[in-house]
Amino acid sequence: MERIQMKSYDIAVVGGGPAGCMAAIKASEAGKKVVLLERNPEIGRKILLTGNGRCNLTNNSSLTGLIDRFGRRGSFFRSAFSSFTITDLVNFFQESGLEVKEEDGGRIFPITNRSQSVIDVLRAQLKKHKVTIIYNYRVKELRKMDGYFQLSNKTEDKKDHTNKQHFGPDSEQYISPDDDLIQATRVILSTGGASYPKTGSTGDGYGLAQKLGHNITPLKPGLVPLKIKENWALSLQGVVLKKVGLTFRHGKQGKIKGEGDILFTHFGVSGPTLLDLSQEVVKILDKEAEVKLYLDLMPTVPREQLEDILLSDFKKHSKRDLQNYLRSYLPLGFIKTFMEVVDIDPHKKLNQVNRKERLKLADNIKGLKITVSGHLPLSRAMVTCGGVSKNEIDPQTMESRLIPGLYLAGEIIAGCAPSGGYNLQQAFSTGFLAGASAIID
Ligand SMILES: Cc1cc2nc3c(=O)[nH]c(=O)nc-3n(C[C@H](O)[C@H](O)[C@H](O)COP(=O)(O)OP(=O)(O)OC[C@H]3O[C@@H](n4cnc5c(N)ncnc54)[C@H](O)[C@@H]3O)c2cc1C
Repeated sequence: MERIQMKSYDIAVVGGGPAGCMAAIKASEAGKKVVLLERNPEIGRKILLTGNGRCNLTNNSSLTGLIDRFGRRGSFFRSAFSSFTITDLVNFFQESGLEVKEEDGGRIFPITNRSQSVIDVLRAQLKKHKVTIIYNYRVKELRKMDGYFQLSNKTEDKKDHTNKQHFGPDSEQYISPDDDLIQATRVILSTGGASYPKTGSTGDGYGLAQKLGHNITPLKPGLVPLKIKENWALSLQGVVLKKVGLTFRHGKQGKIKGEGDILFTHFGVSGPTLLDLSQEVVKILDKEAEVKLYLDLMPTVPREQLEDILLSDFKKHSKRDLQNYLRSYLPLGFIKTFMEVVDIDPHKKLNQVNRKERLKLADNIKGLKITVSGHLPLSRAMVTCGGVSKNEIDPQTMESRLIPGLYLAGEIIAGCAPSGGYNLQQAFSTGFLAGASAIID
């Protein structure tokens, strides 16, 4: 076990998520003295949760596709995505002994189906590159001094007594109470966003950057479940509707559309497609109290054709009851509630369903209306949209345009993408570029 005597480093990386780990690995390659400061007793707590514990590392898409996923200002990430490409990311893990596999929609996962394998690779690489890691070190002050930065785990006015003596999981490094001040010529700030705060990402970096003069664009939840108003929908908790069409309508013409599975929860709705669309819906909910969501329960069947199908089926299977008939199309757990909404007796025989009821049924199959009344808070969102303003960061280097020697990487930077591995690719790519830039003298 090596006691840390020196508190002075070439580069201090704040935050041991994917961005910070990659930045530290890259920065240490050139023989620089690098310290990684992580507030948790381990690195990558958020990685553990990614992809439902399987870690959707990246996505097999083109550079343009990747950039597009980050919206209007996505081209800010062009240099980062070019300097550490999707292939580079895959090679990095493969060369470190972790094979990957591609799934639907180009999503790339470790072959082990375990996020922990990704963390294991990062830890091994940090060790290989002799990065000093100080765990349980929460950076509370970051100051620009004359030619260097000073970092502290104590606020100026308040001593932090929780940071006594801390050991990393390998008992490789520790910091004593007297060693709380760290000096570094350059700093890479990679503290993540402000969602899932239990993972350590409590948004500290925004405050640290702000104190140095940076502007933080409004922090909005991205990939967040939505709340709904109707009690009938809330009673469907746990029900999944597969491959349905989703259309959010707002204002006179506004439409946000997608297709995929939808999961009913005790507060509203979730599911991958819905989460992807949520970023846009959140923007509307900032201005409007409600947004209408229309579910198309048979998106592959046009409205007119559905009417014909119902008419012909109702004749052909006239003695079947309606509930039984609908089981061919809809999950059983959904039909009872659906029949209540449509207000038709589910036990009616098909030949007893009149034209008006049949049309109402078709209307609701093609456009079941739900009122979205809000979204879960930022803490329950998978990503934070908003953060350190891109205008204040040089996209070629990730260096702050305001504070020379300060670099930003990962989710702390404003902008977010839908699910599919894009956000992790952003973290790894910006981390790599920040690390590569910070070593240039
Ligand atoms: C449930 C869930 C599932 C997800 N699944 C995927 C997925 O499958 N694919 C994908 O691409 N994206 C996914 N994401 C998003 C992805 O995890 C993040 O975009 C990514 O982790 C951001 O990386 P980062 O390094 O910028 O920040 P983080 O991963 O948030 O890491 C920041 C680190 O900084 C540390 N830290 C914070 N403040 C301080 C401080 N003051 N001092 C010291 N250390 C500090 C934190 O403890 C943390 O370890 C998911 C997110 C969630 C919440």
